[in-house]
Amino acid sequence: MEFKVLKDILSANDQIAEENHELLDNNKVFAINVMSSPGSGKTSTILQTIKGLKGKVKIAVIEGDVSSSIDAEKISKEGILALQINTGGECHLDANMLNRAINNLPLADIDLLFIENVGNLICTAEFQLGMHKNLVISSTAEGDDKPLKYPLMFTVADVVLINKMDLSPYLNFDANAYKNAVKALNQRAEIFEISCTTGQGVDDWLAWIKKQMDVE
Ligand code: MG
Ligand code: ZN
Repeated sequence: MEFKVLKDILSANDQIAEENHELLDNNKVFAINVMSSPGSGKTSTILQTIKGLKGKVKIAVIEGDVSSSIDAEKISKEGILALQINTGGECHLDANMLNRAINNLPLADIDLLFIENVGNLICTAEFQLGMHKNLVISSTAEGDDKPLKYPLMFTVADVVLINKMDLSPYLNFDANAYKNAVKALNQRAEIFEISCTTGQGVDDWLAWIKKQMDVE
């Protein structure tokens, strides 16, 4: 039975996710799983966050991609430790991949860990990784209907960023319709409007992270 197999895979995954969570807690690492469609600005958001928090917290990044290490190279250029996971065709990261990756990181020297998941709004939301928060990024260029089309993703989100707000005058993006659709699925998620290009709203996003980590 196909359904049972998927259920077994997911419960095995969740066990490893719990191990990951404990390992991070034991080392006082705050970890954020970053999910979005391709091109919404996961890497750009991580780079903006690095810029804003450099010197305050020690950051590392795990980059999940089907292939290539383009994003990991961009992060390394900033002097930040970046570890690349190539999934070899898999369209999501799972807890086991993360377990191997975090066991290869100097966790005692890391305060904040970003996991850039593979760009897709579907199965990345199904696999728990054991991180502390789920960040979902949408961009104005994608349209405001994403919460309606991919409800699971927005149900598991702890925080949502609407990126590329600088482009919204040229697009038919209704920010209120988008926010209402998110709130209908998930009351808990905080939503920030940002632009990684102009820096608009980035301070509010940085304040959210600092609050979670209890740093000034
Ligand atoms: Mg990227
Ligand atoms: Zn997948």
